[in-house]
Amino acid sequence: MPGAHASDVQLAKGISSLPKTNRAAVYTKVGEVATEVRELSVPEPGPGQVLVKITHSGVCHSDLHVMLGDWSFVRGDDGGVGGHEGVGNVIAAGAGVDPSLLGKRVGIKWLATICMSCKQCWHDRDCMCAGAKISGAGGAVGTPGTFQEYTLSDAKYVTPIPDGLDSELAAPLLCGGVTVYKALKILKLEAGSWVAIPGAGGGLGHLGIQYAKAMGYRVIAIDGGDDKKKLCESLGADVFVDFMKEGDNIVKAVRDAADGEGADAVVVVNSSARSYAQAPDFLAIGGTLVAVGIPGGSGPVTVEPAELVIRDIRIMGSAVGTRQDSVEALALAARGLVKPIVKVEDLSELTNIFKKMHKGDLVARMVVKVSQD
Ligand SMILES: [Zn+2]
Ligand SMILES: [Zn+2]
Repeated sequence: MPGAHASDVQLAKGISSLPKTNRAAVYTKVGEVATEVRELSVPEPGPGQVLVKITHSGVCHSDLHVMLGDWSFVRGDDGGVGGHEGVGNVIAAGAGVDPSLLGKRVGIKWLATICMSCKQCWHDRDCMCAGAKISGAGGAVGTPGTFQEYTLSDAKYVTPIPDGLDSELAAPLLCGGVTVYKALKILKLEAGSWVAIPGAGGGLGHLGIQYAKAMGYRVIAIDGGDDKKKLCESLGADVFVDFMKEGDNIVKAVRDAADGEGADAVVVVNSSARSYAQAPDFLAIGGTLVAVGIPGGSGPVTVEPAELVIRDIRIMGSAVGTRQDSVEALALAARGLVKPIVKVEDLSELTNIFKKMHKGDLVARMVVKVSQD
């Protein structure tokens, strides 16, 4: 762009000037399932920022919550751009950015950036940083997301995408993949440990099975129906427990599957209050429950203190991951150990995708094609 700052902007090879128009899907009315493709102007990267030409963006369940405005802690803006699983190429960079980033393929995730200097950031609790910016959210905590051709991001916080990993596969790993990978990583279990995953046949769960297997664990996949059974077993689950068939017998079924002693860990990836009510009983002595999915209403985890003491049970939560977690999660996929099941559609299909997601009709992680490579 011509002007006083033009000289500060570095352009990637083959790019002669910043593009002028930006094809974007915006939330037309937060509270409703509604998006519209509009032409916005292209933002200019400021100091420390990169401009990423997004080719693919995953569509995450969190985007739906942001659009519907039904979470208290973060919501969208009317006219705002959502999306936080974006993959694309750095086409321009602002002042102070290492020029070696130009032309590189990078990812933008839920946390678009963190302050990198507060106590939480120093302790690798990126998600707890009060200065964090959320990609695709509105208000003071949000920043325009990846449902647009050109998205600004923090040069120090973008995620490098490994060679050999398709962009459409990398996209959903930037949120769902990292989240479930980190929830498993913090368990620090021995190889061969039993991990039960309620919601194993869902978007997070189907990645959880694969990451758990890649880490050497044995997996008890918990979900309902023969299609889910087939899916979970095809992804490497050692045992499938059908909650619809087992009914009240489910605790025994899970404990029996894990050598009769219970699971060394339960990672609850769905947002079912019922899963949270049952999960502590799935655990073996010394077991750990990790909460990942957040129930829409109330869904307490209830454990008698005596259980915690006598059975040495731990209960913890896990949200997204750090830059390092992201790099590790992508590396396992680049090695072919994890492959998300994705369906790719054009950006203009976004409203329809959200409608299906709202109804619970999606079977794969949805990815929108935002621009050509
Ligand atoms: Zn997400
Ligand atoms: Zn911070």
